[in-house]
Amino acid sequence: MATPIQENLVAKNKAYASSFTGGGLALPPAKKYAVVTCMDARIHAAEAYGIYLGDAHIIRNAGASARDALRSLVISEQLLGTEEILLIKHTGCGMLTFKNEDAEALVKKNLGEDAVKALVAFKGDFLTFPELDEAVKDDVEFLKQSKLIPEKIKSKISGWVYEVETGKVRSVV
Ligand SMILES: [Zn+2]
Repeated sequence: MATPIQENLVAKNKAYASSFTGGGLALPPAKKYAVVTCMDARIHAAEAYGIYLGDAHIIRNAGASARDALRSLVISEQLLGTEEILLIKHTGCGMLTFKNEDAEALVKKNLGEDAVKALVAFKGDFLTFPELDEAVKDDVEFLKQSKLIPEKIKSKISGWVYEVETGKVRSVV
């Protein structure tokens, strides 16, 4: 039996597909850029950041982590031709609210000791951060230092904060 979430997908997608016209778009992003942003449910990335269908890669993860996004960025740049990166974290991010040991304790309590061992899959690092603007700068610096990011792209990496309270973005670095 379908869950309400599945039913919503089917119904809303049927309506969406009935007027869909984007089937002819090319695989490489037309505007040749990638955005790294948070998975936070309050961010409508395409609308808030002015991204039209087919324009850009939007890489989302918990905290808009550059480290977590690196695999996708290499694919974006090497296989699909993107040449610029916008890294956009946001106010009120969940990643400001806990530390690795807090998340590990929850895993232990809810999933057990074997699950704690399985955290090695990402070295037990949830990539949390205590301060927002510093985290944006740190991630941009991480990308600039990475041998996996081409030199010509390094001058086109910028860091931003999106304010979930106002819908505005502001430049950090
Ligand atoms: Zn977030």
